[in-house]
Amino acid sequence: MALVVQKYGGSSVADADKIKNVARRIAATRDKDNDVVVTVSAMGDTTDDLLELVAQVTSHPSPREVDALLSTGEQQSMALLTMAIQHMGYPAISLTGVQAGIKTDTAHRRARILQIDPKRIRRELEKDNIVIVAGFQGISEGEDITTLGRGGSDTTAVALAGSLEAEVCQIYTDVEGVYTADPRIVPEARRLDEIGYDEMLELAVQGAKVMHPRAVEVGELFNIPILVASSFTDSPGTLIHGGVSMEVRNKVRGIAHDLDVAKVTVVGVPDRPGIAAAIFEPLAAANISVDTIVQNASIDNITDLTFTVSRGQLEEVMEVIKPITQEIGARECVSDATLGKVSIVGTGMQNMPGFAARMFSALSEKGINIQLIATSEIRITCIIDEAKVKDAVRALHRAFELDVGD
Ligand code: ADP
Ligand code: ASP
Ligand code: MG
Repeated sequence: MALVVQKYGGSSVADADKIKNVARRIAATRDKDNDVVVTVSAMGDTTDDLLELVAQVTSHPSPREVDALLSTGEQQSMALLTMAIQHMGYPAISLTGVQAGIKTDTAHRRARILQIDPKRIRRELEKDNIVIVAGFQGISEGEDITTLGRGGSDTTAVALAGSLEAEVCQIYTDVEGVYTADPRIVPEARRLDEIGYDEMLELAVQGAKVMHPRAVEVGELFNIPILVASSFTDSPGTLIHGGVSMEVRNKVRGIAHDLDVAKVTVVGVPDRPGIAAAIFEPLAAANISVDTIVQNASIDNITDLTFTVSRGQLEEVMEVIKPITQEIGARECVSDATLGKVSIVGTGMQNMPGFAARMFSALSEKGINIQLIATSEIRITCIIDEAKVKDAVRALHRAFELDVGD
């Protein structure tokens, strides 16, 4: 008997009919003589709705209590899905993250899975149960419920596949795989048959929310192939794996965008050794992940230092950074939360000139102003006005001829 690990996202279990549809798909997998472990997300917009309730109660919620609340979304869907499977006459049991042995660090709302003890899952499989595990949650060393960051059920699934030594992890969602860009923004985007972990990770980190970045990292760590496919059709999907051919040279593989960007600038910073550390060490200590960093050339030993963070962290960043601005003798600290970013990604860009120039001219032809630029070996990212992001994605998709195919 092979072991299959599957994950169904929020839109795939948004109402009772969709839950029954997923139950039928799970039963069909079981009928092919597989052991089946399933991770499930909260129904539809449940997580957003719970966060909205939090905002109505307090502007400074305790992260521990937010996690206690958010984890209930996945508990609803796991129990309902299990009941739907049982109703079809199949043995099934639901397990919360704690019951499934998912141990995390203590970083509430963005915890990382440290280890999975799959004893209980194995015991249930031996009893012939289909096992439904609540995604997105675990338990910390301090025995508090944690959540893994938005979209984190993908990571639960891949980590379970790794610890159970499954051959593949199947991620079922509301699109037919990984596309050259978000198909909801670019209708002519193409589904990719396959993509490497490194390219998928860059796309995910830069905002392609079809996969949670940490899930891709865990997949690469355990060398587990990840199939992304639709829960509504039988299309073949996209396989994320390590053996993708490097044949496609000189080509952008995909475009990612992110509307969740805030920029912070420390203005009038004295340019002397230790200043960057004085700014970024306290941010790291507060567990704030800083994205693009740019330091201007200094004039008369005074410079400006700009960096980006996600909008949800902006308030916390300003609380940390304001006293530091004074301590280091900088003039002021200003922020802008109306930005977004767009990235082109592809291993085929490595050591090949011309991609940046083509990207910048495609954006300028649309009258889009670039505020910051960041690069890695296989990526170029431009920070631009949020209102221009969708236009930018479409313009770049055309400029790099991604609708044409390899
Ligand atoms: P789920 O609830 O199943 O986890 P998500 O909403 O998290 O689903 O992710 C699927 C969505 O990701 C799609 O509906 C699509 O709009 C978006 N998306 C962004 N970039 C891409 C891409 N490159 N390929 C496919 N989907 C993408
Ligand atoms: N329900 C969580 C979220 O909406 C986790 C997930 O869907 O993966 O972010
Ligand atoms: Mg998701």
